[in-house]
Amino acid sequence: MGGPAAPDSSWKGTLNVSYNVGPGFADSFATRKVRMHVHTNNKITRIYNTIGILRGAVEPDRYIILGGHRDSWVFGGIDPTTGAAVLQEIVRSFGKMKLEGWRPRRTIIFASWDAEEFGLLGSTEWAEENSRVLQERAVAYINTDSSIEGNYTLRVDCTPLLYKLVYKLTKEILSPDEGYENKSLYESWLDKDPATENNSFPRINKLGSGSDFEAYFQRLGIASGRVRYTKNRKADKFSNYPVYHTVYETFELVEKFYDPTFKKQLTIAQLRGKLVYELADSQVIPFDCRHYGEALKQHSNRIYKLAKKHEEQMKLYKVSFDSLFSAVVNFSKAAAEFHRRLEEVNKKDPIAVRIMNDQLMFLERAFIDPLGLPGRKFYRHIIFAPSSHNKYAGESFPGIYDAMFDIESKAAQQEAWEEVKRQISVAAFTVQAAAGTLKEVA
Ligand SMILES: [Zn+2]
Repeated sequence: MGGPAAPDSSWKGTLNVSYNVGPGFADSFATRKVRMHVHTNNKITRIYNTIGILRGAVEPDRYIILGGHRDSWVFGGIDPTTGAAVLQEIVRSFGKMKLEGWRPRRTIIFASWDAEEFGLLGSTEWAEENSRVLQERAVAYINTDSSIEGNYTLRVDCTPLLYKLVYKLTKEILSPDEGYENKSLYESWLDKDPATENNSFPRINKLGSGSDFEAYFQRLGIASGRVRYTKNRKADKFSNYPVYHTVYETFELVEKFYDPTFKKQLTIAQLRGKLVYELADSQVIPFDCRHYGEALKQHSNRIYKLAKKHEEQMKLYKVSFDSLFSAVVNFSKAAAEFHRRLEEVNKKDPIAVRIMNDQLMFLERAFIDPLGLPGRKFYRHIIFAPSSHNKYAGESFPGIYDAMFDIESKAAQQEAWEEVKRQISVAAFTVQAAAGTLKEVA
């Protein structure tokens, strides 16, 4: 905001400060006190979720949800309109297919949420109201908030179950990026943002929160994902775009600067639409649990490395990660064996297919602990949670991570390490129990 148009005295007020473009404050400013007068309205008011249902032809009791919010802080030029428009267009295209006589195999629920900005209110109320039905019948939730937060490359945050589908679909969509004519979205994405652990794949992030998928993924354990266009993370370390949630988020901002050809938004509409289509219409749910096994291995190694910084205390208090590592190995074996059986399943036997589809659908649910994470009872996913320090970011094995956070500064060391051990056992039990759900049914 202090960029090309310098602030003028009309809104600068009487503060004797030289305005600058962040981050942080100059030293002389750090100790100043400011009294702010904040005027807000506090009232009870009605909100509206708009729900559209396209009933499935074969498995109407299995749901794919495409949901995104419609409310905004001010004009909402980017957040949420670049996503709400995508929801409308996907509904329009599925509606066109329906008029031609098509129905998906499974039921699709389209949801336009209200009051996201006030605390994910619309989506959370609907998740609570329908929780019993959703935990029995929901296969996946795809979020459709803002489709751009930059115009550099694709950004994906999703459950490991969706990695394979995301890779497949991005190979089928043309890249909208300059210099990538006739190349796939996957190619430009891989080129611009390879994964840190293995640069032969593009980066996919953990799910955190900050949008409407929260209640569906973190509380109910429904496989979820979100995709959008983002900025160059290497050139810009700030977590959001400069005018995020301000009065400067206008249609003109999108049309003049972010996406003049609207190609990035079209690409995101194609990807979100394809995700919903494949999840709703494939005979076998397009999840791959082997990627969950790999993710569990990677995240358990990472949390172990953090713990190893306290090697002496770990010895002293007998802290071991062996149970977790063993559970992760068992999970990976069960996942490999499951997919071997899935390849051989008789596709003409609807019961046999349904049995395996149910195992796929309920796998994410198996990571839910009904007791929730310590001090955060509505975050119940044991593998992923919003970070306790930045709600937008995701944290893996959050129970263990939080128990170890800043542990050296704690007075009662014995108790602190006992809590770490308790969290390791919760994680080990959960992973082992989830592995059990993938075994061949007796
Ligand atoms: Zn939003």
